[in-house]
Amino acid sequence: MTTRVELVSLCARCSTRQTTCCQKTEIYLTPGDVRRIAGATGLTDFCEFSPPVNPAYGDQADDPAWARAVFRPDGSRRILRHQGNGDCCFLGATGCSLPAAAKPLICRIYPYEYANGRLTGLATTCPVDLLGPDDALPAAVGMPPLSECAAWVAQLYREILVTLGSGLYFIVLVSLSIR
Ligand code: SF4
Repeated sequence: MTTRVELVSLCARCSTRQTTCCQKTEIYLTPGDVRRIAGATGLTDFCEFSPPVNPAYGDQADDPAWARAVFRPDGSRRILRHQGNGDCCFLGATGCSLPAAAKPLICRIYPYEYANGRLTGLATTCPVDLLGPDDALPAAVGMPPLSECAAWVAQLYREILVTLGSGLYFIVLVSLSIR
């Protein structure tokens, strides 16, 4: 017999137990994310520039392309705005209100982690203790095949690197091998 807890997604169970990845999280937006969200919603006031709440996040020494392309000289970067309670501005009663094709790349890729244009593993913040013994985290949160996630990571780095100007953009793309 299938119990009710098995029918409820891991993300739904997570939301009843802890702050989720759509709450109190700073979601960086690439210029491409901004274009896609504006096109899908007609809105223009969904992002702002802000330094990381956790200063440790500003230390991206292991990912120089990210450090150089995402952060402005004052340490701020473009992120989604929050509602008054700290939820993402696009989080509604039934989850994310954005169409899949307009979701920020960072949201699509999570819970995979990445650096230097490549996937590096899974985040440790999902409540994996709620998984069954035969369940895998990516499938439990509805992730597509790994190749699609890797393509999103490559797209993420291509979109952040456009801020560097054409010459440096090409040099970094070659060094990351994500053309
Ligand atoms: S854009 Fe959607 S998926 Fe991303 S944090 Fe906001 S509500 Fe969650």
